[in-house]
Amino acid sequence: MDGQAVRRLFTQETTQPGGRARTGVLNLNHGGVSTPAFMPVGTNGAVKAISQAGVKNIGYNLILANTYHLYLRPGAALIQAAGGLHRFSGWDGNILTDSGGFQIFSLASLQKITDAGISFRSHIDGSKHALTPEKVIEIQEILGSDILMPLDVCTPPGLDRRQAQKALDITGLWLARSLEAHRAGASRGAPEAQGSLFGIIQGNFYPDLRRISAELTCQSAVEGLAIGGLSVGEPYPQFLDFLALTAERLDPERPRYLMGIGTPEYILDAVENGIDIFDCVLPTRIARNGAALTPEGILDLKKAPSAHNLEPLSQTCPCSACRTYSRAYIHHLFKAREILGPMLLTEHNLVFLYRLLEDVGQAIREHRFAGFKKDFLNRYRQGKTP
Ligand SMILES: [Zn+2]
Repeated sequence: MDGQAVRRLFTQETTQPGGRARTGVLNLNHGGVSTPAFMPVGTNGAVKAISQAGVKNIGYNLILANTYHLYLRPGAALIQAAGGLHRFSGWDGNILTDSGGFQIFSLASLQKITDAGISFRSHIDGSKHALTPEKVIEIQEILGSDILMPLDVCTPPGLDRRQAQKALDITGLWLARSLEAHRAGASRGAPEAQGSLFGIIQGNFYPDLRRISAELTCQSAVEGLAIGGLSVGEPYPQFLDFLALTAERLDPERPRYLMGIGTPEYILDAVENGIDIFDCVLPTRIARNGAALTPEGILDLKKAPSAHNLEPLSQTCPCSACRTYSRAYIHHLFKAREILGPMLLTEHNLVFLYRLLEDVGQAIREHRFAGFKKDFLNRYRQGKTP
C-alpha cells in the first residue's frame, strides 16, 4: 500500500477448497451485490432492449455504462444538471463506468497517445477531443459512478514488446494520476457518496509485463483490481494461461473484475480463477440477433427448426418469453422485424446468466464448483446450434 487506507469494499464469504472460486458481497453505494456477478452492459446509460425496471426485476443491482459514449453524447453537463446518471437514467442500482480507453482505441479515429493523455476524433461527428486521466475521473464523478475505472492504454494481441512496455508504462503513470485526482475529488465532495476507483492490469501477452502490472496495481491504493486486455482476439488457451498467471497474483482482500467476458464458458473460467465480476455485450447483442442462451448451448431462433415449434424456449426459465410465448412466435417476431423479439430474448438471456451465477454461487458454497462446471459444460457443449 502507498500509505492510504483502503476501504473494505469486498466481504469474502466462501472459497472453494483446493481452488480459487469464491463467493462474497460487494458493498457499494447503491446496495450490496452478491458475487460472482455478471454486469449487464448499458453503454449509453440504458441496457439495450430492456427497461431499467426489467433489469432490476431480474435481480441485477450493478450495470456498466461507458464514460466515452456519455461524455460525447449527451455530455457530462446535461447529466450533471439532471443530478447524475442514476437520476438521469432512472436506475437506482449501482453503476460501474468504463473509462472509455477501450472505446477510444476501437471506435474513435486519429487517436494520439502521449504521457499527458489521449487526443482523438469522435466516432459520432468527427469533432476533436482530448482526455486526460484527471478529466476521465472528473467525468465519472459527475456521472456519480459507484465504481470508476482509470484511463488506460489497451493493446491488441501481437504487439511487439517495446510497444507493450511503453503502453504499460503510460498505464502505470495514468493510474497514479487517477488516484491523485480521485483523492482530490474526495476532499471536494461528501466521502460517503464517492465511488470506488479500481486499477486495471495490462501487459499485453508478455508474462513478465503482466506480473509487473499485477504487482504495481496491487501495491496501489485502488479499491478493486481489474484485468484488462484479455479476450481481445487471442486463442483460447492463451486467454486461459494469461488469466491464470494474472489472477493468481491478485490480493484476495479486494474485488477482482475481468473486463469484457460474458459467455458461460468464459464466465466459468473466470470464476474458477477467483474473479468476482465481469461484463460483456455478447448476451444482449446476440439476443437482438435472435439467439438465446440455453443449457444446451446457443439457440438461433431465426432458423428453421423454431419456425413451427409451439413449445416454449425453456420449460423452467421464469422469464416473460418462456412463460408466455412459443419458439415459433419468437421466430415469427424476428422474421417480421418486430421490436418485441429482441426485447424478449434480451430478458431471457439476462435471466439465464443471472440464474447461472446464482447456481455457481450455490455450488461454491456447497464446495462442488469443479463438478458443477464440468456438468454444465458437458451439457452446454453437446448442444447443437441449428
Ligand atoms: Zn426464458
